[in-house]
Amino acid sequence: MRAQDLLKPRPEGLYCPPGDFYIDPVGQVSRALVTHGHSDHARAGHAAVLATRETLDIMALRYGGDFAGTTQAASFGEEINVNGVRVVFHPAGHVLGSAQIAVTYNGLCIVASGDYKRAPDPTCAAFEPIKCDVFITEATFGLPVFRHPKGLDEIGRLLRSATQFPERAHVVGAYALGKAQRVMRLIRDTGYERPIYIHGALATITEYYRSQDIDLGRIEPATVEKGSKGDFAGAIIIGPPTAFADRWARRFPDPISCFASGWMRIRQRAKQGGVELPLIISDHADWDELTETIKETGAAEIWVTHGREEALVRWCELEGIAARPLHLVGYEDEGD
Ligand SMILES: [Zn+2]
Repeated sequence: MRAQDLLKPRPEGLYCPPGDFYIDPVGQVSRALVTHGHSDHARAGHAAVLATRETLDIMALRYGGDFAGTTQAASFGEEINVNGVRVVFHPAGHVLGSAQIAVTYNGLCIVASGDYKRAPDPTCAAFEPIKCDVFITEATFGLPVFRHPKGLDEIGRLLRSATQFPERAHVVGAYALGKAQRVMRLIRDTGYERPIYIHGALATITEYYRSQDIDLGRIEPATVEKGSKGDFAGAIIIGPPTAFADRWARRFPDPISCFASGWMRIRQRAKQGGVELPLIISDHADWDELTETIKETGAAEIWVTHGREEALVRWCELEGIAARPLHLVGYEDEGD
């Protein structure tokens, strides 16, 4: 069997003809296997969804309990038969519940990794390299210029700034699923014990993380109704990136605008977004993680998707590994 007969791109997403299912479909389908809860991968309206318990919970929190006709929870490492195709979910280290999906049929194994990272992150299960024939990798940061620094070093810069400017608030932009909670956990890992304040848009997912025994310390709503502006002097406040465009951020004392994203490596991008303190914290693999992971899977063939496909395909070819871009459309990751 050829690999492209086991998984092939269709307008609705990556399709498995023998198993009659899609992985992370962008269109509504009869059977979807979902790698993680980010909105470009996990969409509402499928007849049946197979995903980890956490991803199903996150989808229900975001879309309502009736987001799919039926749901089935997959545990990491559990072998599941879908119309004769063997499917196993493995941790991807991207956000809580995120999974790679190994699809095996007639002795051929393809691993669709979804989004992943290798940097340590106590808010989700760590990525596990899986031996396979074909590895499908993302390439969000698939250029050698992207080398993410240590998350704790970036948080150290934030906390030093907070010490240096005790009268000002530090408002950190971070995506609601994964990034925001990782930033909270990183702040706690430095020993910071003051409350961390959050925008209401982060409350539901943050509460869910805490319900899954992820210790984020004292988290309080960033509301000024009861107190005064000055109450937030020296405070660290986390909000979704969109909150900076509206009046929300201006309610805090002389706020310093921070943004936690892998894209903050590009100074121009930080400047354009009015970010004073860019924090290079990513939920995606950087160049070194991508190339190391490709080698670790031992795959003879690499399919590259959503991101800088060309550079990674070229790198594979120079390494003597067959590679091609997948050209899937519809993935603009909400977490970066
Ligand atoms: Zn994602």
